[in-house]
Amino acid sequence: MKVVRAKHAGACYGVQRALDLALKSVADGGRAYTLGPLIHNPQVVEKLSDQGVTEVSAIEDAERGSSVVIRSHGVTPQVMRAVAAAGNTVVDATCPHVARAQKAAADMARRLGSVVVVGEAGHPEVEGIVACARESTERVYAVTSPAEVPADIEAPVGVVVQTTQQKDKLDEIVSHLRALGIEPEVKNTICFATSQRQDAAADLSEQVDAIVVIGGRNSSNTTRLFDICAAQCERTFHIESAAELDESWFSGVGAVGVTAGASTPEDQIAEVVARLERM
Ligand code: SF4
Repeated sequence: MKVVRAKHAGACYGVQRALDLALKSVADGGRAYTLGPLIHNPQVVEKLSDQGVTEVSAIEDAERGSSVVIRSHGVTPQVMRAVAAAGNTVVDATCPHVARAQKAAADMARRLGSVVVVGEAGHPEVEGIVACARESTERVYAVTSPAEVPADIEAPVGVVVQTTQQKDKLDEIVSHLRALGIEPEVKNTICFATSQRQDAAADLSEQVDAIVVIGGRNSSNTTRLFDICAAQCERTFHIESAAELDESWFSGVGAVGVTAGASTPEDQIAEVVARLERM
């Protein structure tokens, strides 16, 4: 059976950087904590825990004086300050793309007074971006559709976008603001790691008889990759690790594709590829 890897798959720059920073912070035998799972990958979170990086749900649960790693999604400025105020060392693993969106939102809030954040309200990344803007103005709106833009919004307006959104969504909101007579200042902060993985998965699913998608079941970008592949390739399987592979899935398969979500490190992909090649 031929095994074909998607052109873009697996851990993105921001996730890899967060993993490296977390491991570096415990390299001298110290302890580090993350607020929530560092990445949406249970196997990696367990491995990190064995190496001294523990997940906690509240700042108070982190030992005083230890390192607290901020996830690639980023956090609100309030959380950042609370971590430092609790006597911990902040290891800021906010992805530079997310940090750029936070800075743009804060800057436009100061200068323009109204900011539209194109993104899912309640998503941790969006909460962080919104909170950065709210340091200067209450007129900050997280929206995913034109209907969510307040009808009485007034110029000037800044627009910033959650890194994983589609460009079409940003365009739709900008067009809506223009229709309201507002020419917004737009900072396109979309990161292409996600769309590159989705496009590569779609290409691959046209070339193979079966596809294996690797990534956490709690990872939304992995689930999205699964949906893209499954739409074109009936034999699409979502696994978290090589141990889940079942030889019977591949009877009669000439070529199998492999793709992985942005929270899947290289060693997990290599293990799956090696196992498939032995089948
Ligand atoms: S998907 Fe993009 S923005 Fe998100 S962590 Fe990865 S590199 Fe950063």
